[in-house]
Amino acid sequence: MKSNSFNKNWPGLIQAYKEWLPVNENTPIITLQEGGTPLIPITSISHLIGKDVKVYAKYDGLNPTGSFKDRGMTMAISKAKENGCEAIICASTGNTSASAAAYAKRAKMRAFVLIPDGFVAHGKLAQALVYGAEVLAIKGNFDCALNIVQELANQYPITLVNSVNPFRLEGQKTAAFEIIESLGEAPDWLCIPMGNAGNISAYWMGFEEYFKAGKAKKRPKMIGFQASGSAPLVSNKIIKDPKTIATAIRIGNPVNREKALNVKEKSNGEFLDVTDKEIIDAYKLLGKEEGIFCEPASAASVAGLLKYKKKIPNKATIVCVLTGNGLKDPDCATKNNDAIFYSNLNPDIKTVINKLGF
Ligand SMILES: *Cc1c(COP(=O)(O)O)cnc(C)c1O
Repeated sequence: MKSNSFNKNWPGLIQAYKEWLPVNENTPIITLQEGGTPLIPITSISHLIGKDVKVYAKYDGLNPTGSFKDRGMTMAISKAKENGCEAIICASTGNTSASAAAYAKRAKMRAFVLIPDGFVAHGKLAQALVYGAEVLAIKGNFDCALNIVQELANQYPITLVNSVNPFRLEGQKTAAFEIIESLGEAPDWLCIPMGNAGNISAYWMGFEEYFKAGKAKKRPKMIGFQASGSAPLVSNKIIKDPKTIATAIRIGNPVNREKALNVKEKSNGEFLDVTDKEIIDAYKLLGKEEGIFCEPASAASVAGLLKYKKKIPNKATIVCVLTGNGLKDPDCATKNNDAIFYSNLNPDIKTVINKLGF
């Protein structure tokens, strides 16, 4: 077993955790050496909370296609390949399509992706295109796209790789293993953004498995965050027209609702919401204070932690999952920052000195 620091020979998560995953000698391992991502202390957030807490970011935006989806996709595509599948399909708010396309192409498969037209961040769309996916942008939201692909996968020999695919969650649970290995114990709290709520369910599976195997003495309280305009799990409703700047979690009818509710109950956890403004404040803070550029959906975990800090016990160890890389959504970044940016300057030293304020 590895320790995920300084491991130059990290083989990807299937190889690293094969005894914990449903693979065998016949499974072709389709990998881009995903997983093994850093757990970074975010001390400015710890200081803002006080109470002697320790806060860490599990920076899964450092996976090969820039989101945690790669953890699930290496498993889903490897199993699809093992079963002789030649094409995969998914509905996506962006990251699933980027990841699915990359792994499908590595496995020499066709990749069909359905996306909500106009609501996918540009970096994610760019990835799907470059990886050679067959992209269908529909005039409807994610939930609508998911209904279509579920139907298609039932009728045609195409493997569905959304998080209803059980192999996705198997791969994603390895992030919990890595956290326990880094900390030497499970954290007290795990803060995570929720869209379809596959990831929170996968993390819990990982924490449970290591707990049962005696690799951790406790399990974390699972705290799931949603954007206020797109919070079907917080309000326990279906949201017909979800709205949020955090497009990766703009989902009104999560397919893993039952699983997530079970996680909440078993872990004595909570589902809470954060506004778009709170998300953007945390997004900027992570950039400015910690040098960590995540996407808006990911910042929901830190935004939530700050918003609900009264609930945090003293001396707690907390991990916030940063699900995706900030480069995915450059439009959000250029519109939402506190940077000083002078443009159209004359190219002479006097002008520059003047602007520097010397
Ligand atoms: C997919 C995604 C989520 C939501 O994960 P779920 O498993 O659908 O709850 C959150 N953040 C980012 C960046 C994502 O790509």
